[in-house]
Amino acid sequence: MKRFDLLIHGAEQVVTVAADGARAKAGAAMRDLRIIPHGAVGVSRGLIAYVGPAEGVDIGDAERVVDASGRTVLPGFVDCHTHLVFAGGREKEFARRIAGATYEEIAASGGGIAETVRATRAAPRPDLVEGALERLDSCLGFGTTTIEIKSGYGLDEENEIKLLEVVAELRELHVVDVVPTFLGAHVVPPEYRDRRGDYVALVTERMIPEVARRKLAESCDVFVERGAFTMEEGREILAAAVRHGLRTRVHADQFTAGGGAELAAEFSALSADHLDHAGPESLARLRESGTVAVLLPGVSLFLNQPMPDARRILDAGVPVALATDMNPGSCMSENIQLMGSLAAMQMRMSLEEVVVALTLNAAAALDRSDRVGSIEVGKKADLLVFDVPSYEHIFYHFGVNHLTMVVKNGFMVLEKGYKEA
Ligand SMILES: [Zn+2]
Repeated sequence: MKRFDLLIHGAEQVVTVAADGARAKAGAAMRDLRIIPHGAVGVSRGLIAYVGPAEGVDIGDAERVVDASGRTVLPGFVDCHTHLVFAGGREKEFARRIAGATYEEIAASGGGIAETVRATRAAPRPDLVEGALERLDSCLGFGTTTIEIKSGYGLDEENEIKLLEVVAELRELHVVDVVPTFLGAHVVPPEYRDRRGDYVALVTERMIPEVARRKLAESCDVFVERGAFTMEEGREILAAAVRHGLRTRVHADQFTAGGGAELAAEFSALSADHLDHAGPESLARLRESGTVAVLLPGVSLFLNQPMPDARRILDAGVPVALATDMNPGSCMSENIQLMGSLAAMQMRMSLEEVVVALTLNAAAALDRSDRVGSIEVGKKADLLVFDVPSYEHIFYHFGVNHLTMVVKNGFMVLEKGYKEA
C-alpha cells in the first residue's frame, strides 16, 4: 500500500497557517503564515499525513499526484457566519435601498427580515433544502469547505425547528461541513411585538431545550441591537443556552453600541460578530474571554455603510475572523474570497491577517481549529489549490476566482485543468 492517497506536489507556496496547537492567532501572530516554498502536501485516509518541502517526498509513494507547480495551496476556507437557509429574494428591497431607504426604515415598514420570515415559514421543506444546496455549491466553488448556518427566519417553535432540520439534512447531503447555530432570537416576530417577554420565554423555555435535546445546533446566537433584543434579554437567552449545554455567540454592536460585545465576553462566547460600534473596554474584555471577533465587510458594502474598524480590533489583541454573513437582506453573496479583498482594501487588514481570518481564526469561531483551519499533520485534508504563484494574488487580482482545485476530506471535489504528475 502506498503512503499517500493523494499528493499535491511542487507547489510554489504551501501556506500552512500552522498554529502549533494554538486555538486562534491574535496580534503579531496573525501575520505569521508559515509558508513552505516549493512545498508538498500528502493525504492519507482523509487526513493530512505530510506537509513540507517537495524534495522530501517520492511521488511514487502516492496513488495520485497533482502537479501544483506555479500554484499556491491554502487550507480550506471556513465561512463562520451565514444565514444560508431561507426562501424568497429581497431584490425589490435592494432597489428601494439604492433609491435611498435605510435598512432600519425598511424593517419598520414590515420589510426586511420580516419578509424573509413570511416566505421561509411558507416554504415547503424540499424547496428550502434545494435552495440551500445550490448556495452551498456556490460556496464550495469559492473555496469554503466548512460553513456555519444559522436558523432565525422561522421565529416560532415549528419553523425554527424546521430550519434546523433542513440544516441537518444539508449535513447529510453536501460535502461541505455544515455547523448549525440556533438563532431563534434574531428579531421579535411581529405577532409578539407587544409582548416581547412572551417571545423570550418561548425561546428560553421551549425552543432552546428542544434544540439542545435533539442536538440540532452546537451554539445559540442572539441579535443584540436596537430593534432586535436588549442586552438584558440577550443575557436571559444565552444563560438558558448555557444551561442546556449550547455554546454561545452574539450579533453585537452592528448599528449601535448596544452592549453585545460585553455580553459576548461575559459568556466567553465563541464569537462576537459585526462589532462596528464596539468600544475599547468591550474589546479589552473580548480579548480576555478568548472570543473571536467576526467581521463582515460584505454587509457594509451591501448596505453602503462604513467598514468595521478592523485595525482597532486587531490592535486590541482580539483574534479576528472574516465571514460572508450570506443572507438575502444584508449580504447576498457566497464569495468568501471577495470578503478577503474587501478586508484588505477597505479595512487595512494585511494580506497575512486576511488569510488567518479566513482559515484558522474562523475555525476557532466554530470551535473546530483543532481539526480544520490550517495545513498540519493530523488535521482534515481540506485544501485549496489556486492558479497563482503566491497568496497575495488571490486578493490582489480581485473579483476573479483563481481556485483550480478543492480537496475535501482528502477527496478532489472540484477541479478545473489540473495536471497529473
Ligand atoms: Zn448575521
